[in-house]
Amino acid sequence: MNLIGQDVTVLGAGIAGLATARALALRGARVRLLEQATEISEVGAGLQISPNGAVVLDALGLGKEFEEISVASRGAVLRDYAQGAEVLRLDLTRFGRFGLVHRADLIALLERGARDAGVQIELGVHVASVHLNGRRPVLFIDGADAERDELLVAADGLHSRLRAALLGDEAPRFTGQVAWRTLLPIEPGEVPHEAQVFMGRGRHLVVYPLRGGRLLNVVGVLETPEWTAEGWNHAGDPAAFRAHFSEFGGPVRGWLERVESVMVWGLFRHGVATQWHGSNAVLIGDAAHPTLPFLAQGACMALEDAWVLAEMLVSHDTNNAALDSFEALRRPRCRRIVDAATANARNYHLRAGPIRGIAHAGLRTIGAVAPGFMPDRFAWLYAHDVTARQQPSGS
Ligand SMILES: Cc1cc2nc3c(=O)[nH]c(=O)nc-3n(C[C@H](O)[C@H](O)[C@H](O)COP(=O)(O)OP(=O)(O)OC[C@H]3O[C@@H](n4cnc5c(N)ncnc54)[C@H](O)[C@@H]3O)c2cc1C
Repeated sequence: MNLIGQDVTVLGAGIAGLATARALALRGARVRLLEQATEISEVGAGLQISPNGAVVLDALGLGKEFEEISVASRGAVLRDYAQGAEVLRLDLTRFGRFGLVHRADLIALLERGARDAGVQIELGVHVASVHLNGRRPVLFIDGADAERDELLVAADGLHSRLRAALLGDEAPRFTGQVAWRTLLPIEPGEVPHEAQVFMGRGRHLVVYPLRGGRLLNVVGVLETPEWTAEGWNHAGDPAAFRAHFSEFGGPVRGWLERVESVMVWGLFRHGVATQWHGSNAVLIGDAAHPTLPFLAQGACMALEDAWVLAEMLVSHDTNNAALDSFEALRRPRCRRIVDAATANARNYHLRAGPIRGIAHAGLRTIGAVAPGFMPDRFAWLYAHDVTARQQPSGS
């Protein structure tokens, strides 16, 4: 289908919405992007963009700038919490580029990319609800008349209005995990260019460098039975953060001593949506498949979605045929990724000493005997290139 001149409304200026808006505008669509925030800004935190996400940035023509704003990572090192002893080194460079990037820098890059491609970004626009009774979706925007859209792409995250219209307005559930995060100034070269994961009992801590190695991204995740507040921006108490990770030794102790401010938030999610689209309206990104962050794939899946959706729209005769193929291609893969991230939560947080000891010894042996074995088990994830030609079903 020729997208030239087709009107598309994208809801939400996160990673999914901005990437999709650029992908569609580059194919000739007239894209309007609605965002409830009055400015596009992001909380300070890091993101790991693995090769399956980075190939989309390349294909969107943003690869060179992404290289400039990110730190190239060798992969990940799993460590025991007590002294930071290495359990398993995952050299992932064989799959392509892993970029460690400040979330605000990636959002700014995607926003520039969307605007340069001609996307009209409207800020301070809150969509109260979406109705799906006819052939085209109807948007109810605060303070405005209801409007009927040609095509709605809902990249509106965990509280998606389209998801509520498709599946009912269910509150996201608390996952039993709370994340603490902070950024520390460091000297370039102070830490290796890789993600280090320190695994403890019912908790783990991830660190990696950002912005030319001058900032250290520190995220600690802790299992906890209760949490009420949802959202990203709750100031935490550095002393409480230190206390929760007080059993962690090695370099972690020194980093935690330097923490002066920390944010804390509960991790909430839904299951992967059982239906991703209605007539001329589709979910993408966290709106369709929120995930625990233990595989660092939420943003990468959002980038994959953006590319595949644009490709499906140009390669089908009607929007709805394209949306059928999009969902058929994306749902199984996203479900597999979300399940793998959930399994990682269990593996990182093993509590019983003997079980942890055996599991870590097993991983050490595998790493020593066959260093390529574990990285190869992730080929399905990292070597997946959605920008290589897709096979649309039913086109
Ligand atoms: C601790 C942590 C670490 C992570 N680390 C990684 C990582 O290393 N790598 C990775 O790939 N992923 C990571 N993720 C996941 C990633 O951050 C998310 O999956 C991704 O940002 C989702 O993007 P999105 O655009 O789908 O949704 P969102 O970022 O939630 O964007 C939704 C947008 O829609 C807007 N909006 C919502 N409702 C409305 C409305 N009614 N009207 C108008 N606008 C609306 C919102 O304001 C927002 O701007 C991490 C997540 C967490 C919590």
